Amino acid sequence: MTITRKNISLATALQCPRCGRLYDAGILQSYATCCQQPLITIYSGDLPDPSFLNGREHTIWRYREMLPVMDPWYIVSLGEGGTPLHRLSAVSQKLGVRVLLKDESMNPTGSFKARGISVAVSKALELGVNHCIMPSAGNAGGALSAYCAKAGIKATVIMPRHTPATLLEECRLHGAELILADGLIDRCGQIARQLVKETGAFDMSTLKEPYRLEGKKTMGYEIAEQLHWQLPDVIIYPTGGGTGLIGMWKAFREMQQLGWIGSKLPRMIIIQSQNCAPMVQYIKNGNLPEDFQAYPSKAYGLAVPQPFAKDMMREVIQQSDGKALTITEDEMEEGIREMATTEGILLSPEGSATYMGLKKLIEKDWVQEDEEVLLFNTGSWYKYR
Ligand SMILES: *Cc1c(COP(=O)(O)O)cnc(C)c1O
Repeated sequence: MTITRKNISLATALQCPRCGRLYDAGILQSYATCCQQPLITIYSGDLPDPSFLNGREHTIWRYREMLPVMDPWYIVSLGEGGTPLHRLSAVSQKLGVRVLLKDESMNPTGSFKARGISVAVSKALELGVNHCIMPSAGNAGGALSAYCAKAGIKATVIMPRHTPATLLEECRLHGAELILADGLIDRCGQIARQLVKETGAFDMSTLKEPYRLEGKKTMGYEIAEQLHWQLPDVIIYPTGGGTGLIGMWKAFREMQQLGWIGSKLPRMIIIQSQNCAPMVQYIKNGNLPEDFQAYPSKAYGLAVPQPFAKDMMREVIQQSDGKALTITEDEMEEGIREMATTEGILLSPEGSATYMGLKKLIEKDWVQEDEEVLLFNTGSWYKYR
């Protein structure tokens, strides 16, 4: 007897964003080897007016038709997504623009990495993976460890030695194999690639695997739904590997196709730490030298010196008429204190960078009075001790 299961996803294939070559989504894939680009999931078919979402659970899986898992049996969920979108009234008053904050620290494992990892681990389980490897600056490794524990998949995480102790302990508690490396995330990536060769484990590095992007794109769907399908004028995003930035932009395009939102899209702003700002350099000068100088940042999620998806990020900035700018380590501290005392919210350094970035944009007249601006708190302050 064969059990027939319902296919809940409209995903049909993977595609190279550069040359359009199609890749089979029915087998394990990493990235578009034709053009050295991340692989993009494509969906076909129509969906009705989004009111059909009403009554579904408030996790990322409420958008399951636009996620890649075919059989719901394989979904590995800890309740990710459905995070609050706050209107910051005191800050709005002070700055003269309408400020929103998407608080991603409320996700399982304390960061928005949970969104991407939930989808990637679910899809890996569906495709028969039994061992995942990932280099991580902190939050992704914790999320991978938790979701792999739940899925019954072995996890190996490689982290910089200077990573805060809480994050290391989190991986160990979830039963992951933890390897510490000297240097930043790119050094961890080298070790990961070597281990993948030796063990045959599946590489879950940022955008070297297609589905973390799909998980992160749900932020785009959620923001649209929470704002009744009217997107803000500006989105300020603390950027490391760029999964969320590229993912949200993909979500906006998909929702336009579905007829859920109109033609006007937000201006997308990349915020990086002054200690490690490869995208600011890349967008300004059009090149990123291999020996690009980068230093650790307390915003460890942003310390990615050589992001694999730099071309796609630059396109988002160009297409959205956006910008890329930096914030110093001291400014991040200042932002944490200001938000804690004015709004009662504790920001991660990355989240604080988006707030301080907004203040800079206002100073330079790049955000107009009464525009609506969305900030991101991507991780929990409690994970930086
Ligand atoms: C990973 C991470 C980021 C960067 O996210 P990307 O989508 O990879 O650019 C920002 N903030 C925190 C807290 C993170 O963990």
